[in-house]
Amino acid sequence: MSEQDKWCYEVPGKLEVPYRYFAGEFGSKFLVALRDQAKILGCKCPKCGKVFIPPRSNCEQCFVKITDWVEIGPKGKVVSFCVVRYKEPYLPVEPPFVMALIRLKGADSDLTHLLSEVDPAQVKIGMEVEPVFSDSRKASILDIKYFKPAV
Ligand SMILES: [Zn+2]
Repeated sequence: MSEQDKWCYEVPGKLEVPYRYFAGEFGSKFLVALRDQAKILGCKCPKCGKVFIPPRSNCEQCFVKITDWVEIGPKGKVVSFCVVRYKEPYLPVEPPFVMALIRLKGADSDLTHLLSEVDPAQVKIGMEVEPVFSDSRKASILDIKYFKPAV
């Protein structure tokens, strides 16, 4: 052990810090529409017409400022998915559960969310799904409780 290593001992520890953050102009509008109207909003690029969700302030293709909002979904299709077999402390579900990449009708990007009310073995890419909104919405992405197979 060198003289330098002798004075480089790391102390293991765990730190939990309560915090809040500003969702930003676009994130706030998206979350308030979920909470107050149970509507899913995307934003539309004025140049290329692509609709983004989650909403963003600038188009990733054209680099122009986005100002237009459109209601999208509520139905969509599963683009990809995985079966999660471990507990995620920030999600209100027990494993195994399905996380899906969902392309909502009218959107050009995908939303990642829980997929429920279906046996994980029965989930298919291309499956049509629809949101189930929470009864007590709080301006959180979990105001969409989960998606389920569309009827
Ligand atoms: Zn664009």
